[in-house]
Amino acid sequence: MSSTRPVEVTNAMKRFGDTLALHDVGIRVDDAEILALVGPSGCGKSTLLRIVGGLESLDSGSVRLAGRLVDDGTTRLPPERRGIGLVFQEHALFPHLTVRSNVAFGIRDRSAVDQRRRVDEMLAVVSLPELGDRYPHELSGGERQRIALARALAPEPALMLFDEPFASLDRNLRVDLRRHVVDALRATGTAAVMVTHDQHEALAIGDRVAVMRSGRIVQTDTPSRVYHSPVDEFVAAFLDEASFLPIDQVDGTASTVLGGVGGVTSPTQRAMVRPDDLEFTDADTGIDVEVTAVEYRGMHWFAEVGLHDGTTMRALASHLHPPRVGDRGRIRLVAGHAQVPVEPVD
Ligand code: ADP
Repeated sequence: MSSTRPVEVTNAMKRFGDTLALHDVGIRVDDAEILALVGPSGCGKSTLLRIVGGLESLDSGSVRLAGRLVDDGTTRLPPERRGIGLVFQEHALFPHLTVRSNVAFGIRDRSAVDQRRRVDEMLAVVSLPELGDRYPHELSGGERQRIALARALAPEPALMLFDEPFASLDRNLRVDLRRHVVDALRATGTAAVMVTHDQHEALAIGDRVAVMRSGRIVQTDTPSRVYHSPVDEFVAAFLDEASFLPIDQVDGTASTVLGGVGGVTSPTQRAMVRPDDLEFTDADTGIDVEVTAVEYRGMHWFAEVGLHDGTTMRALASHLHPPRVGDRGRIRLVAGHAQVPVEPVD
């Protein structure tokens, strides 16, 4: 039975000359779900999004939207017939139209009364009800992006596609705007795929996160699973700071310098610890370390610590006790935190 979920991409292949931009890629998006697509620059995120949107075609594989085959490598349904809303980094509003006319653009075949009602609703969704009579050049960058969102949502698309929609904005505005986007999607029950190179944005926005590397999807999971149970060292290190410790097997027990490790499934795995898994301690249970580098991050410090065997790890340190290079101390796993075995990158 074929599914009617908003997006189903299977075995997607796409080549540009010598570059294999997508290799056997599969994604699905469930009803009202937000899928964040994240990975380093050039890994194929935009290509995948553009293929879902119909701006680019597959070499082989398939794209289904709400159960309808829209690209099978030979025929492609054009973007305007896919029932999708697109929001890109550059907010392409029509400069000569007011905000109201911009938002009404995709519904201009509806009656004037309907248009007015829908525009009012959309301006309320993006919390800018008072700006309808302005022109794009009279708006800030963040306001323009919210109006672009309102315009894309107005025709009630079954699916929204976002390509780095906040990349050009400063951090505070980005956080504010992504709350608006998520609220607007939730309020309208709209499914979405959002491309970002920003790990924290992906974790904050996605109901699920698909991590890409070199044209492949490496892991698709909930934010907490990709973060805490990454499939390999690439996913682990891409999503945030991570240290990897060798695992020793002695009499059937797996352990690292920090103690026992559960769930080891192969001899090639190493144990991931994140900085917040480690704490400095005065207790005898800690292992001896020397601070080799420090970095101030405002809320806390990062301390790189070295063990006597040359292994280094990154640990969080409180701003109340700033670490200094050369400090000697002890470190241990925070109670309740675990070392997580992960595969090396192939
Ligand atoms: P991302 O969005 O993850 O930064 P892209 O999907 O834009 O990555 O690009 C994936 C790869 O495909 C890159 O190597 C890029 O240079 C290449 N690529 C993308 N679009 C084209 C194109 N139109 N022509 C040639 N190469 C392209």
